[in-house]
Amino acid sequence: MLGGRIHGVASASVLEVRPAANRTAHDGHSRFAIDPAEVARCEGELLLRGLDLIGFFHSHPGGSPYPSTYDVHDASAWPGYIHCIAAVDAAGRTQTRWYRVEARSWAEAQCEVEKAAIGESPACRIS
Ligand SMILES: [Zn+2]
Repeated sequence: MLGGRIHGVASASVLEVRPAANRTAHDGHSRFAIDPAEVARCEGELLLRGLDLIGFFHSHPGGSPYPSTYDVHDASAWPGYIHCIAAVDAAGRTQTRWYRVEARSWAEAQCEVEKAAIGESPACRIS
């Protein structure tokens, strides 16, 4: 799950990344699901610190960093959220792409890592 801040319609900053277990009842290699209680708990913890739940990330082991048919269908309930897909090949190389989820489509977004002050984690600005 991705915590951060929304900057209007066209930009957001990812300030925190939180792992979540894949709870899908289907093949966990091609689909994923996060327990709604875990999403609610994460969102509440982020809100207490002035952050929002702005999106999600998942991997495509051995696949491509483009949304699958399942991704587009399953994420239709989350319009307006950021989504990151990391594809990992057999050699361990990772290719990452970012998207803004719409009702029935995913629009590719750009991610720029911002410099951080010493002792702080860098932010990832999505536009
Ligand atoms: Zn996927």
